[in-house]
Amino acid sequence: MKKMEKHKKTFLWEEMTWPEIEAYLQTVDTAILPCGAIEQHGPHLPLDVDYFDAKYMAHKVAEACADPKPLVLPPIPFGVSYHHDDFKGTLSVTNDALSKFVYDLGMSLAKNGIKKIIILNGHGDNAPTLNYAAQMINRDAKIFVCVDTGETSDVDLQRLIDTPNDIHAGEIETSTTLAIRPHMVQMDKAVNETLRFGSKFLDYDDERSVNWYVRTSKISESGVMGDATKATAEKGEKMWGLMIHHIVHLVESIINTPLEELYQKRY
Ligand SMILES: [Zn+2]
Repeated sequence: MKKMEKHKKTFLWEEMTWPEIEAYLQTVDTAILPCGAIEQHGPHLPLDVDYFDAKYMAHKVAEACADPKPLVLPPIPFGVSYHHDDFKGTLSVTNDALSKFVYDLGMSLAKNGIKKIIILNGHGDNAPTLNYAAQMINRDAKIFVCVDTGETSDVDLQRLIDTPNDIHAGEIETSTTLAIRPHMVQMDKAVNETLRFGSKFLDYDDERSVNWYVRTSKISESGVMGDATKATAEKGEKMWGLMIHHIVHLVESIINTPLEELYQKRY
């Protein structure tokens, strides 16, 4: 009989058989959950940027992690995107639905023996909801859950760009898409809609800014919040390098630390 080649990626939860994952769970207690959104990203980027990027990030991070690698779950494609729904193509679920879904998933992971969940969030406006779900999973399953919405590398990314308040489909997201999927970017339709607000406490880049909420159409005509015209593939490659580097460190530090020791200061 011809020997079949193994095409499976060893860290993908859904590609394993139950005896395979049962054995894997003996060596690893950490799972990565990518979470995205399907929503407008200006006239030049596809609707799937946040979903695709969260999934891409999770795979690249697991590939770069030392063995035993974290388990990677299938990404959640939909998120809390109601503020974009004046722009066609945006699909949104409620905060309640997403938090309940993530909570149920977290409880199910805990039953399987997972002790640490790292949620990689590709969509900023999912953050309050995912943080809420993380808090409830921790309360009820007593496992470790954290959410990264870019906190591990935002400081570095800011240094690479010229645009203030570049939060959506602007210099950052257009660059990161140019770096990995140039065929999906219509640069001839890229626009500059740099945001300026009436109070500096609304500035997303300001260290002392508050969390606040607005419908996108109120502050942007194209759906872009930032300057997409300044994007380059070169900047995007640097951004991916930095983001992956920092998240690999996050994951490895969590995977290699027993649950009880995570809560102790040792550095
Ligand atoms: Zn996005």
